[in-house]
Amino acid sequence: MSILSIRNLSKTYQSGSRKLTVLENVNFDIQAGEMIAIVGPSGSGKTTLLGLCAGLDSGSDGSVVLNGNALEKLNEDQRAEVRNKDVGFIFQNFQLLPTLTALENVMVPLELKKRKDAKEKALELLEKVGLKDRATHYPTQLSGGEQQRVSIARAFANEPKILFADEPTGNLDTETGEMIEKLIFDLNKEKGTTLILVTHDLDLAAKTQRIIHIKGGKIQEDAHA
Ligand code: ADP
Repeated sequence: MSILSIRNLSKTYQSGSRKLTVLENVNFDIQAGEMIAIVGPSGSGKTTLLGLCAGLDSGSDGSVVLNGNALEKLNEDQRAEVRNKDVGFIFQNFQLLPTLTALENVMVPLELKKRKDAKEKALELLEKVGLKDRATHYPTQLSGGEQQRVSIARAFANEPKILFADEPTGNLDTETGEMIEKLIFDLNKEKGTTLILVTHDLDLAAKTQRIIHIKGGKIQEDAHA
């Protein structure tokens, strides 16, 4: 069974009297354990598509079935439940909660799952990304690369079945980018976590097994390595 199944997915935004179609009739299936990249020019709809696949937003038409859950049939609370259970998300701009320390940010998904060992587990994850000594730092006290590593620890915390990453190395220097890349790819190799990566970096995309090219909100090519 596919872990993610997209059928005739469309997304339209209304801006004043104008209708802007950002995604049009998108179809694909992703199997558990796959590692894929979505590439395309700026404004082609990549981020919108990723958000719809992860249940962060809903489409205007069509269906998204994520790990057996038809997202368009769920309300916002139910979608959040699916996200907390099955999904990890890494954003280009990290999106850490500014009033929480690194440790507390990583603890958020663990506390949502009512894990009694939330603190120990979060410290373990910070150690994995090489940041145990920054546990009590707030996001503003961390470099971009460190913030992205905290956000990765947070995304790994609920042991997601599927990890979405939107330009995870986009704002980082090459060395830090390579470290982030390794953390994400290792999760796929070691735990079999499905990885869906949005990137404009074709070298990074080439390291995945499958590349979906998108342009003007439509799939141009779906290429398996
Ligand atoms: P990409 O990630 O490929 O750069 P996006 O998915 O971010 O593309 O955006 C695709 C198009 O949708 C862009 O033209 C963008 O301006 C538009 N768009 C994105 N979000 C909104 C929104 N909330 N309201 C209106 N238009 C939007």
